[in-house]
Amino acid sequence: MNPVFEEALPILHKIEKAGYEAYFVGGSVRDLLMGNEISDIDIATSATPQEIKTIFSRTVDVGIEHGTVVVLFNGLPYEVTTFRTESAYADFRRPDHVSFVRSLEEDLKRRDFTMNAIAMDKSGNIIDPYGGRKDIADKVIRTVGSAKERFQEDALRMMRAVRFVSQLDFAIEPLTYQALRLYGHLLKKISIERIAVEFEKMLLGKSSQLAMKVLVDTVLYNYLPGFYNKRIGLINYYQKEMNEKITLEERWVLLFYYLSLTEQPETVLRAWKLPVKQIKRIITGLNWLKFRLENDWTKTELYQATEEIAISTEKLYNMIKDKKLHSSLAEIKKKCRQLPIKTRKELQITGNDVLTWYDRRRGPWVGEVIEKAEKGVILGKVENRKEAIKEWLFKCNQM
Ligand code: ATP
Ligand code: MG
Repeated sequence: MNPVFEEALPILHKIEKAGYEAYFVGGSVRDLLMGNEISDIDIATSATPQEIKTIFSRTVDVGIEHGTVVVLFNGLPYEVTTFRTESAYADFRRPDHVSFVRSLEEDLKRRDFTMNAIAMDKSGNIIDPYGGRKDIADKVIRTVGSAKERFQEDALRMMRAVRFVSQLDFAIEPLTYQALRLYGHLLKKISIERIAVEFEKMLLGKSSQLAMKVLVDTVLYNYLPGFYNKRIGLINYYQKEMNEKITLEERWVLLFYYLSLTEQPETVLRAWKLPVKQIKRIITGLNWLKFRLENDWTKTELYQATEEIAISTEKLYNMIKDKKLHSSLAEIKKKCRQLPIKTRKELQITGNDVLTWYDRRRGPWVGEVIEKAEKGVILGKVENRKEAIKEWLFKCNQM
């Protein structure tokens, strides 16, 4: 057995010894069958969360009402979820009621796609009642049962379908695809946080451009914050070749560049409820990209942007302009390294120095003097030494 599963095997043995069933399920089994790297392992069991908690000494309650307990085993966390069905989807969101059941097959039936509805027992036998293996071989994303019903039960599954297109480079089976086109409006019922998780996984997947095309062709994009009616912008985005070195934030920047929003990007990013820090970095990236599209870098801007952001901006600029040569990146690196100082902290004078040199009361003028000195140093007009700066300031009568 694969070593990652091997390590988790004692969990299955323990649960079975206590008289219950337990299987590996979900993404890890799918990834194993695909020969992909295996991330976290999920386990499905006939034991209830309470029963699981009596079997293992170290557990964490993460969603008892949904039947999930995290078991800590050899220092690693495993999600152990009780077989369940989901009944009564009153409002197109997660079930308001889950019923625990004692059969694996019923549990697999409530899972989203056939490729995710495969279980593996302790001996490596595969249980695949919905044809997941065939769909994996055919590279097809297909809902378990009627796509229309499954998307109406939980509209997030539509975003998951698109996310899997990106991560796996699979096609969407025609009836599943048709349902995507029909039920996009149900995304309005789903919390933006959950949508954002899937969307960001989509942005980062190896076939993200193809997935974005699906988002456009199915009109799902109309139900995402800020994307309404932005078909052309999204097409321009997905027509750009993406390489895996482009970070998540850079992808957001590029996407927002192509969207050409009428509202403030910050308003839209807030609507996505991204973390404040991330929003700030995306806005900064966007602003520098706009600068770069109109100007060349000078020492002053390279200093203000910092090397990291200047390189990132130049990368995106090259993409937009279809420049394949990356000599400009090396050039920027060199220029940044040649700057006499990288941040204001490296400047050899402080506000106190300025106050002792000039016989004036404290005020905003101090900051202005420091800024002048900073500029002088960056542009190489004066050396970054206290005495030299002092002399230069007085000589040019900078005050
Ligand atoms: P990843 O590799 O990203 O973890 P995954 O398929 O394991 O992908 P998870 O979100 O970890 O995705 O979910 C684990 C499993 O739970 C899925 O494989 C699927 O069987 C089931 N599942 C998750 N979300 C849903 C949903 N909204 N509706 C039905 N089943 C779901
Ligand atoms: Mg998973």
